[in-house]
Amino acid sequence: MMELESTLTHLECPECHKTFDADRPQTFCKACRSPLLARYDLEVAARRVRKDEVASRRRGLWRWAEILPVRSAAFRLTLGEGDTPLLPAPRLGQRLGLEHLYIKDESANPTATFKARGLVMAVSKGMELGMSAFVIPTAGNAGGALAAYAARAGAEAHVYMPQDAPHANQREVEIAGAHLHLVDGLISDAARLAAAEAKAHGWFDVSTFKEPYRVEGKKTMGLELAEAFDWNLPDVIVYPTGGGTGLVGMWKAFAELEAMGWIDSRRPRLVSVQAAGCAPIVRAFQEGAARAKPWENAHTLASGLRVPAAFADRLILRALYESGGTAVAVSDEEIVDAQRELAHSEGIFAAPEGAATLAGLKRLCREGWISPEARVVLFNTGSGLKYL
Ligand SMILES: *Cc1c(COP(=O)(O)O)cnc(C)c1O
Ligand SMILES: [Zn+2]
Repeated sequence: MMELESTLTHLECPECHKTFDADRPQTFCKACRSPLLARYDLEVAARRVRKDEVASRRRGLWRWAEILPVRSAAFRLTLGEGDTPLLPAPRLGQRLGLEHLYIKDESANPTATFKARGLVMAVSKGMELGMSAFVIPTAGNAGGALAAYAARAGAEAHVYMPQDAPHANQREVEIAGAHLHLVDGLISDAARLAAAEAKAHGWFDVSTFKEPYRVEGKKTMGLELAEAFDWNLPDVIVYPTGGGTGLVGMWKAFAELEAMGWIDSRRPRLVSVQAAGCAPIVRAFQEGAARAKPWENAHTLASGLRVPAAFADRLILRALYESGGTAVAVSDEEIVDAQRELAHSEGIFAAPEGAATLAGLKRLCREGWISPEARVVLFNTGSGLKYL
């Protein structure tokens, strides 16, 4: 079989549009303090592959290799990530008065969360660029995923995690042979430590949006959705937002698919769900702001949502505004109730972050924001088993 070729051309700052060489390790645009985004020759990509052809390829996220950043197949790591089930949720839908409710169940990924999609990409591309040691600050799950893919690649990994992160996260990092550094503080404190160590040792810092490739892995959720809905995107996507890689990634995926001529210009309304104890994006959205101010005293049991300041706040908010979407904050109590309801009604034991999307959806249904015939997708971003 012919090797699939990436059409990656360069990296670009979405704020000042300066371009950066994609064949050297890059971080972010220092002038704008903005993430860099990968750009592809989408005309060439559309010529090389037809959309129905992607379906016949071997399952997994590398099916989309033409619009992913890794050039050589030898560097495309895998533990079986991607192509998670899109489950109809008829019983839950009926209760909410929704005729077409679906759950994209990301708990089926390696390490049991969707963080696998981002980290498989960052580690694969990092290895291709000649890096051999990685560092990450994490609320928990991203550290577990980095540890797994670094082990798979035979690379070194350093994980900085709040000391109150779920026990499963600490164990999964250690058992994969990564260096675990427990931090007395939040992910933002872990980030400061990790950045300093990365600089001192020349490690590849794979903090959320401080390098361009995790978002490319998360983008595949949008590609899979487009395909699953027969290239006719759903009407509403409800996504639990921490750093926002999934939201930004899916929004980017849709733009690329349209440029390739695979979908039209219609877009889902994006809904960002956050925890009431840490809701900087919701607050900014309600103010109509372009940027989110850092959240003070962040607290929630949904550890993946405990991100007081998202580096990609501008991109997240832009996607919400452009899509005609909204942002909702839900209490920990609502999250716990939703977790039980999801397991009871559909058999899905969701992570609290995933359950938060149901709590948010219930709110929107009560407010009449969603019509009964809308096709709605909730993202269950991880397994509840990781939080026991
Ligand atoms: C990290 C994480 C999130 C938040 O994801 P972002 O893409 O960073 O917004 C949601 N759910 C779980 C389970 C997570 O681990
Ligand atoms: Zn810039």
